[in-house]
Amino acid sequence: MAKLEIYQFPTRSDNYGVLIHDAATGATAAIDAPEADPLFAALKKKGWALTDILITHHHADHTAGVEALKKKTGCTVTGPAREAGLIPGLDVEVKDGDAVAVGGAQASVIETPGHTRGHVSYFFPEDGAVFVGDTLFSVGCGKLLEGDAPTMWASLSKLAALPPETDVYCGHEYTGANCRFALTVEPENEALQARAAEVADNDAKGLPSLPTTIGQELATNPFLRASSPAIQKRLGMEGQKLDAVFGEVRKRKDRF
Ligand SMILES: [Zn+2]
Repeated sequence: MAKLEIYQFPTRSDNYGVLIHDAATGATAAIDAPEADPLFAALKKKGWALTDILITHHHADHTAGVEALKKKTGCTVTGPAREAGLIPGLDVEVKDGDAVAVGGAQASVIETPGHTRGHVSYFFPEDGAVFVGDTLFSVGCGKLLEGDAPTMWASLSKLAALPPETDVYCGHEYTGANCRFALTVEPENEALQARAAEVADNDAKGLPSLPTTIGQELATNPFLRASSPAIQKRLGMEGQKLDAVFGEVRKRKDRF
């Protein structure tokens, strides 16, 4: 079966817009709608007609384009039930474990609260891709704006358990800054050193460092590596609960 075609493009100051397209049916979904005009331009460039928007969370830099896109295309807007009152034009409310179809492509909804109370991610197992919004970034994670450290740790742990080869599409490109922080937490991590060099090279060339993969994040991302003895030692938290270690890494990043 033909895989989903995925098109990622920069939008706003540091967001990514993503379109996914099922060639067999012609169905096309935007993952979030940061702003309408660049999405219209991307649809035109690819020659795709928008049928769906899959919203990860209610923040304006993920939803500002919804109403204009819906008005012009009549697309169906799917998003988290727990943020229903906060998302404009929401048609379909989803919760953990729900199935979402984009044409012939099937996703399952994974609730990943922490950045916001109702944040969801969309996992397409047959296509090997997960769209994580502002929960997981490459070598980083979202700020805890509406959740505590144990909540976010539980969400990140769900994503970490996906197959390591899964491609991870994030809402933002903060990878360079994230690497600079991560190297203060786990400087001896050789996979992280290599990733930081790769990202610096990408940044110098104006290239994206996304998508990433679950496997790459498990090897490099300090927010998934609370069990690392080197990180625990550096934080003076050897043997402590993993959600507490994660919480301390997050606090240090907030002050970095
Ligand atoms: Zn956000």
